[in-house]
Order: sequence, then structure tokens, then C-alpha cells
Amino acid sequence: MPDAESVGSTVENVRVVVRVRPMDQREKMEGSYNCVSVDSVNNTIAVTRSNASPPEPPRIYAYDAVFDYDTSQMDIYVQTASPIVEQVVRGYNGTIFAYGQTGTGKTYTMAGSNTAPELRGIIPNSFAHIFSHIAKAKDDEKFLVCVTYLEIYNEEVRDLLGNNPHQSLEVKERPDIGVFVKDLTGYVVHNADELEKIMSVGNKNRHIGATAMNIESSRSHAIFSITVESSKKGSDGKTHVKMGKLHLVDLAGSERQSKTQATGTRLKEASKINQSLSVLGNVISALVDGKSTHIPYRNSKLTRLLQDSLGGNSKTVMIATIGPAESNYVETISTLRYANRAKNIENKTHVNSEPGDALLTRFQQEIDQLKKQLEETANVEMEEEEEEDECGEEELSDDTLTDPELDCLDPEDRKIQRNIRREEKAKVNREKAHQARKVLEEKKAELQKTKKQQEELKEKLQRLECKVLVGGENLLDKADAQRQLLEQAAKELEQRTLNELRLQEDLQKKEAERLDLEERYSSLQEENAAKTRKLKRAVQLLNSAKAELADQQREQQREMEGILDGVRALRREIQLADLVLDSYIPKEYQALIDKYVHWNEQLGEWQVKCVAYTGNNMSAPHQRPQRAHKHQVEPPDLSDRYLSYSSASSRPGTRLARPHSAVPRPHSAALRQRQ
Ligand code: ADP
Ligand code: MG
Repeated sequence: MPDAESVGSTVENVRVVVRVRPMDQREKMEGSYNCVSVDSVNNTIAVTRSNASPPEPPRIYAYDAVFDYDTSQMDIYVQTASPIVEQVVRGYNGTIFAYGQTGTGKTYTMAGSNTAPELRGIIPNSFAHIFSHIAKAKDDEKFLVCVTYLEIYNEEVRDLLGNNPHQSLEVKERPDIGVFVKDLTGYVVHNADELEKIMSVGNKNRHIGATAMNIESSRSHAIFSITVESSKKGSDGKTHVKMGKLHLVDLAGSERQSKTQATGTRLKEASKINQSLSVLGNVISALVDGKSTHIPYRNSKLTRLLQDSLGGNSKTVMIATIGPAESNYVETISTLRYANRAKNIENKTHVNSEPGDALLTRFQQEIDQLKKQLEETANVEMEEEEEEDECGEEELSDDTLTDPELDCLDPEDRKIQRNIRREEKAKVNREKAHQARKVLEEKKAELQKTKKQQEELKEKLQRLECKVLVGGENLLDKADAQRQLLEQAAKELEQRTLNELRLQEDLQKKEAERLDLEERYSSLQEENAAKTRKLKRAVQLLNSAKAELADQQREQQREMEGILDGVRALRREIQLADLVLDSYIPKEYQALIDKYVHWNEQLGEWQVKCVAYTGNNMSAPHQRPQRAHKHQVEPPDLSDRYLSYSSASSRPGTRLARPHSAVPRPHSAALRQRQ
């Protein structure tokens, strides 16, 4: 029986928290005005402009939690990431995003600094947390931890753990497992230290990629994903598998690309860089406005890959990072407003029980198979050894030569006959001995081969078995210190939460008393003063509503400009595509393509009708690559299924196996229709 928590799903909102970084050296030297104040009792952030005329009231935004500049990395982990990781190891999906302007602490929050354990960010802390959970689990539970690390730059996906970090990978979708990146490298890891080494390899690749393409990492999105599979025998005697996936996302800087910088190719690049972020914004808007029937996940790689994280099956937290200096006022307000909207996204989460693509199940099956094979070879070995002994023991019997026929010969002839027969026997015996030795040698060689096979099987078994982690094993190594820090931070937090609760109660009591006092006017004069105060408050509210409206208008204006930039870049792309098409494809063929091509909204791709007749299905079914120790996380290939479907059916809308090769590109008029 699956346990109770794996049954049914829960609806919960995306949790949004805000972190303010301290003033940096430059801001301090410039004597920047600190426009951000954090109220951690009411979980609000107030932003005030010093030089507004007429003076403006502070903009106040409320979140699930707010963290001032002095909040430690450990506190951030315990209060934001820890509850998510706790659920991931139990089979839920989880996502932690860092969103904000470049330089506000996204990477600091996600990865942190290597210089001291207490400065580590969410990613390394979650490693220690996951392996600490495995170490504490009972030994009847088995685990498998696998990681991937990718980057999205300019709407291209790159594998940060692969051999070639410059190669762009395809994002694919299959009905049984959903969206995935084809050929993305996944590593099975055994402990937190190993995980950390893999992360630094990925970070180095990110850096190499960035310098080679002359970009900063602030313009790319990085997604570090950890899959935790666990298996345990249920009360029904069967083994049940659960799989939780944790996405740790360091988004590109949210600031708008400067218009002066972005001209020509740069503009196109800029609009593509922003595409994922603006689509992310559109997805959030569509999810929270309650009226949209279509959520534009397909419009960017980021939203396609993280579809489950927003409005799907994932426990999600967004960490919005802001700087305190007034010089960043516009970007800060923009981040706060963006984050504020995300609070209203509802996700529906459930435990991923018995997932079809679980590696643990497959490894376990392979282990059982290998064990069986080993047993079989051990039996063969025993039999061979017995046979060898028999061969060795076989005696060459010496005939006593007591044939009655010889008795009738005279003694001389008898002697000769006896000698002849003895020699014949000796010859036969020699031959027999030779044969036996040959058989013996063959058996020995066979035995040697079986032994070698057995060694190989044992080695393979060991390799597989060490991929699977057994609950209770101490896998923490150096990360143990990290785990202790985490536990200490959790205890401190508990104490602090209690204090805060007490403070909040006191505050509420005082507020109630104050209101009570206000109500009891002893004279008209007091009543007058109270009403004036109320009026002042109302005016304040009115002003802040007006300011909010102005912010909204400014924000809309910014968004509009962004969209227009995008539209302009797209239009130019279409014009170029038109030019290429008109130059190389005759009009009548273009009309033909137009006639037979259509856009599949569900799959998000162009499809050609009657593709079965194009010869596209003649290509040989794709061979699945052999799995090495470095495990490829590409799910089982079903391209054969697609191909056989397309050859069996000449219905319109058959899926294209290779849209760019055998089939001509859809005509741009059809593309224009879509725009
Ligand atoms: P982003 O990834 O958003 O561009 P970074 O994480 O690189 O920003 O942070 C920029 C700089 O600010 C780094 O030097 C980082 O160490 C520092 N920093 C950011 N947040 C904090 C913080 N909360 N406390 C101390 N230093 C911080
Ligand atoms: Mg960064």
C-alpha cells in the first residue's frame, strides 16, 4: 500500500520572500540614501524616495517573509529552502527561484561563497540536507540521487555538465513524461562532497561559456536540478518508489536592457535574452488574473522547462532580491511588484509515486538480474570443477592380459603375442591420456572464462549497488559540519519565531487599546482632533493609492516598450525569413506548403499534413545509446513509436520526426498568421 501522504493532492500558493542585500562599498562611498526598510514583524517592505516632489508616501508591499540586510545564509536556508527540500526527499517536486536585478544577491543567495561554511548558499546547503536525510533514514529505504545542470542563454539550452558546454540542446516533450532536454547529462551522486564538485564543474563551464560568448552570467538563467528517488517496502509487501525533483534556479538579471546599448544584432539578442523573463512575467499574469484560459508556457525555454513550478505540481518559493540604494529605486519597485503578483499563483502538489522513468526501479531490476546471472555462473563453475576432478582422477587401467586364447600357443609365441598386445594397449592408453589432458585443458580454460565473467558481473553489480544509497549510511563526510550548522540555525529560528509571535501579540494588544482609547472621546475637541487624524490618514492612503497607480503606469510603460522591442525584432526576423523564402522557393511551392502546414497549439510546433508520403518515415529508427557510468538522463526513446504511427497513418497532423531536414520550413505567411 502506498503511504497516506502519497494519496491526493494539495493546493497551495507560491511562497514569495524578499531579501535585501547590504549596501556595497561603492554605494557607501557615494553616501547613497537607503530607500528600503524591512518590517519583519508584519512581513512588509517599505520603499521611500528621498527626493520626490511633492513628497510621496512610502510604497508598502507584503510578502510571506522578508529578510533584512543582516540575515545570515543559514537563516535564509532554514526559512525558505529547508521546508521545500524536506518535501522533495518525500517525493514532491520543489522549485526555488532567485529573481532580481543584477548585483542584488541572486547568486549569493543560491550558491553563496566557498570561503566559509556559514556563507554557503541554498544549493550546497540543500546537498547537506538531502544526504543528512538519507543518513537518518531506516536501512529498509533505498535512495538514488541524480543531478543535471543547464543554462539558458539567448533561448538556447546548454549542458553545463556535458562534454561541450557550447552545444545547444533540444527541448522535447513526450506525453508520458512531459517536457525534457534531449541528451542532457545526468550524474548519479553518492555524497554531498561529490555533488559540490559537480556543481563547481558546472559553474566553471558557465564561466567558460560566458567569456567565450562575451556575455556575463547575469544574462543567462541557470537551472540546477536534483532528483531524489526513494524506494521502500510497503505493508502490501511490494516495493514502492517515490521521486522528488528539486529545481534550483538562478535567473538572469531582471533589469531592462538599456535601449542605447541594444541596437541591430544586440537588440535581437537583448529581446531574446529577455524573452524567457518576460514570458515568465506573462505566465505569472495569466495564472493570477483568473480569466486566462491559455497560459503561454510554450513561448520560452525557461517557462517550458519550469512549467510545473508555476501553476503545476511543485512546491515553489520565489526569492526576490533587492538592493537598498535609492539609485536602484525603479528596478527595486519593479522587482517588488513582480514578486507581489507571484504570491497569488496556486500550485497543486502531490507525491510522485511509482514514476515511469525512475532510475532506482531500473537499477534494482538490473541488480537482481545480475545477481541471478552470478548465481548461475557460480553453479556452472562448481559443475566444471567437479568434472575437472573426475578427469584428473580417471585412471588408465592396466590390463592383466589373461586371455585364454593365448594359453593354447607355445611359450615363445605366447610371449611375442603378449608383447604385441601390451604395446597395443600402451598405445591406446597413451592416446586416451592425451585426449583426457586435452579435455582437461579445455575445461580449465572454460573455468577461467567463467571466473572472469563472474568477476565482471561482480564488478558491475558493485558499481550499480553503490549508485543506490541505503538509508542510515553516513554519506556526509565533510558536509557534516554544514549539517550541524543547519540544525543549529533551525533551533535558533524556532526560538526567534516564538519571540516574534509574542511580540506580535503584544503589538496587536497595544493597537487594540489605542483604537479603544480613540473611540472614547471625552470632549468635542478630542473628537475633532481624532477626526482630523483620521482624515490625515485617509489622505495618506489616497496619496499612496495615487503613487501606486503612477508606479503601475510606469511599469506598464516599461513592459510595453519591452514588448514593442520584441515585436520589432520578430518583424525583422520575419522579413528576413520572407526574403530567404522568396529567393529560394518558387511561389507555387510556397502556396503548396501554406496549404499543407498547420500549427499544433498543443505541441507548440508546425506540422505538415500527410507527412507519411514525404519519405520522412523512411529513416531508420533511432538507436538508443549505451548507458555508461556517467548516466544519460534521456528518457527511454519512443521515436520508433512516433515513426510507426506516422507510417501507419496518413491522417493530417502526423508528427514530424525531423522538422528541419526532410520537410521544408512552413511558409512565413502561415507564421505571420500566428503572430
Ligand atoms: P546577482 O547574482 O544578483 O547579480 P550577486 O549574488 O553576484 O548578484 O551579488 C553581488 C555582490 O553582492 C557580490 O559580491 C555578493 O557577494 C554581494 N552580496 C549579495 N547579497 C549579499 C548579502 N546578502 N550579504 C552580503 N553580500 C552580498
Ligand atoms: Mg548572478
